[in-house]
Amino acid sequence: IVILGIESSCDETAAAVVVNGREVLSNVISSQIDLHKLYGGVVPEIASRKHIEKINQVIEAALENAQKNLDEIDAIAVTYGPGLVGALLVGVAEAKAISYAKNKPLVGVHHIEGHVSANYIEHKELEPPFLCLIVSGGHTHLVVVKDYGKYEIVGRTRDDAAGEAFDKVARAIGLGYPGGPKIDKLSKEGDRNAIHFPRGNITDAPFDFSFSGVKSAVLNHLNMCQMKNVEIKPADIAASFQESVVDVLVTKTIQAAQHLDMKTVVLAGGVASNNGLRERMNEACNKQGYKLFYPSPVFCTDNAAMIAAAGYYEFMNGTRHGLELNAVPNLKIGQR
Ligand code: ATP
Ligand code: MG
Ligand code: FE
Repeated sequence: IVILGIESSCDETAAAVVVNGREVLSNVISSQIDLHKLYGGVVPEIASRKHIEKINQVIEAALENAQKNLDEIDAIAVTYGPGLVGALLVGVAEAKAISYAKNKPLVGVHHIEGHVSANYIEHKELEPPFLCLIVSGGHTHLVVVKDYGKYEIVGRTRDDAAGEAFDKVARAIGLGYPGGPKIDKLSKEGDRNAIHFPRGNITDAPFDFSFSGVKSAVLNHLNMCQMKNVEIKPADIAASFQESVVDVLVTKTIQAAQHLDMKTVVLAGGVASNNGLRERMNEACNKQGYKLFYPSPVFCTDNAAMIAAAGYYEFMNGTRHGLELNAVPNLKIGQR
């Protein structure tokens, strides 16, 4: 089964051709980062307009790289939520147009289920059930993947997402957008025990997260340095902040795995490419005898191969969307 995947939920216009959910024939990503950098974050109206400019080129390149034409595609998988409504609409309208013109089945995909499915691409042996820590720009969830397309949320952030915290702290210490990769890099030059930032814990829900506290603590630390004329050390702040976030992510994931008796742990989303998180999760999983999987960086952040992978399993489960498919900006995991 050959699937054309289309992704346009945020600031990446992407298309990919994937066979049987796991074999990537092409994966084309046009990122708008340089455009949004000027404003310190994604400007929705600019994103929508750029998607319209790029989407046909990106799809043509994906087909060409895969050496396939539209007649050789078995189905079209497209992200229909969650995300920016104007951005999502570009991909959804495009996918519907192709589906109608070529009479091909259409499968709407949940963006975050796509992030999870990115793991199927490089780990041929990975199969549900497993525990997945989803850490992206807008989401932080602990999810049990019971089967392909079957998700049970066991924990979620109460405020900021992990990636959002990285981006906000990066901005505060002058690193620019997107901040995650920059904090990751700068952390290597800093002392992760230099400053003790708080670990967000929620007493009545042990698997829920909170990252607004650590973000505020970084801002307070910066103010305090300025007031007391103490030298600000960005590398130490980056390393100590990352340590706080990684500590919480690893601790809660391992506790959840123990509680739920899951022996396979999977990371997904942009923050899954964080080196500190990968190292520490590796150590912790080794200690417990758990298997750990995470995608290569290019499949951690937004791409369409992951949408095609998720779309394949949806397709096999019988999901078909008609031309009434619409963008759903606040689509919930597991919602069809
Ligand atoms: P969502 O998927 O929740 O809708 P999104 O698509 O914007 O949000 P992703 O593409 O999954 O998010 O990932 C982008 C996020 O990942 C950004 O917040 C970015 O800072 C963060 N990120 C990317 N690389 C790293 C890294 N090495 N360390 C930490 N964070 C990172
Ligand atoms: Mg992005
Ligand atoms: Fe994403």
